Amino acid sequence: MKHVFVAGSINMDVVATAERHPRIGETVAGEAVLYFPGGKGANQAVASAKLGVPTTLIGRLGMDAFGEELRAFLAAQGVDLTSVKTTAGTHSGTAIITIANADNTIVVVPGANGLVDARDVTVPNLVKGDVAVSQFEIPLPTITAFFRRARAAGATTILNPAPAKQADRALLDLVDILILNETELGALAGTELRDNDTPERFTEAARTLGHGKIVCVTLGKRGVLALVQGQPLLVPGREVKAVDTTGAGDCFVGALAAQLAIGKQLGDALTYANAAASICVQRMGAAPSMPTADEVDAVLS
Ligand code: ADP
Repeated sequence: MKHVFVAGSINMDVVATAERHPRIGETVAGEAVLYFPGGKGANQAVASAKLGVPTTLIGRLGMDAFGEELRAFLAAQGVDLTSVKTTAGTHSGTAIITIANADNTIVVVPGANGLVDARDVTVPNLVKGDVAVSQFEIPLPTITAFFRRARAAGATTILNPAPAKQADRALLDLVDILILNETELGALAGTELRDNDTPERFTEAARTLGHGKIVCVTLGKRGVLALVQGQPLLVPGREVKAVDTTGAGDCFVGALAAQLAIGKQLGDALTYANAAASICVQRMGAAPSMPTADEVDAVLS
């Protein structure tokens, strides 16, 4: 069995709930404080590892209590952390989230995630057939270095360009499979897209990112639209009762990478990742809602 390598962010999400948001300069009494392990890199690595595929996370934590907690959590999910460095002089990536009346405000401070560099992604044990995955929560030049290394080894590269921003051609040309939602597709294609746009409109935008790569546009409950050699393939979403879609995209990416690492064909891998993500949205949280292989098999049987 081949290996999944994820170079990406690791965060602690600190959530405070209150009856209402404070105005500037005001203090309000809150109701609860909750801690959720997160960061797209960590979430995707957990999704892949929980499906039973050997998964290495490459990233950085600060020298603080959150760093220790995140390390313990990720290890318990079966993620290999030998390439996660603890870095002095900075803090672990932290998101401060307040929720009131179903509206949230979020401040994300990258901390150690912003220091993941080209030396961190040299990965000597990456070999042909492995799958290399990254997102936009670590520096872009680091992702470029990682994918160069992966391509040189004969690995498949998957980029999830989230959160949405533009990227240069040098990076995009190193990508075999792009997995992105409507907003991220709009940012990369330089056009504005809405979630109720037609599949034709997404196909047209995805084609501009072409160069023979596979483009998978995740469409929430509508499923996923994949463009393979320019030809669209729609895998419809599964009808489920969604309670929290946080981490759905990360689940999809981790599951697709895991399937490709065990040698599955793209069509089967897309169906599997779509099923895995449909389980994730029926549970609260991101990393804790990633399904096991048995749970996905039960849905598909
Ligand atoms: P993101 O969170 O990155 O915007 P999406 O919302 O497109 O990602 O969701 C990613 C995948 O999760 C979808 O392609 C689909 O497989 C699954 N998914 C998301 N929302 C639902 C839902 N309400 N019902 C079923 N599957 C869903």
